Amino acid sequence: MPDDDCIFCKIAAGELPSEIVQEDEHTLAFMDINPWTRGHALVIPRNHSRNLYQAPEEDLARSMAAAKRLALRMRDALGCDGVNVLNCCEPAAWQTVFHLHLHVIPRYDDDPLQLPGQPRQIEPDELAQVASELRGG
Ligand code: AMP
Ligand code: ZN
Repeated sequence: MPDDDCIFCKIAAGELPSEIVQEDEHTLAFMDINPWTRGHALVIPRNHSRNLYQAPEEDLARSMAAAKRLALRMRDALGCDGVNVLNCCEPAAWQTVFHLHLHVIPRYDDDPLQLPGQPRQIEPDELAQVASELRGG
């Protein structure tokens, strides 16, 4: 069901303008209006869901498969040197538009993007503790 307040549902319905670059029965890919690099696009399922927590698994699978096709298109049409696929789930993780989407970001050897986090050392006990919490133990 489309969400009346959702801009990506409106894009999927053709009610808001977008630069569509790839589509199929279940997914749509269009250019991000504030691209991080040349060619940055978003893949969405046509079905509305808020984010990773809520999306049906088939929408996630179809969206990732569409991201792969788009990545190959970026490699072949734009000549990028690599691709990042990024998903943001909830504001704590940078989500600003609440319709599930995958950022597909072409990367170039000389582009200015940097890793958003720094790897850190962790003690084995701390690693085991968090793993135990995730296992439910
Ligand atoms: P996120 O922070 O992961 O929720 O990303 C939302 C993305 O949507 C941002 O990169 C925005 O630049 C992009 N965006 C917002 N509105 C539009 C729009 N109307 N058309 C295309 N991209 C949009
Ligand atoms: Zn939506």
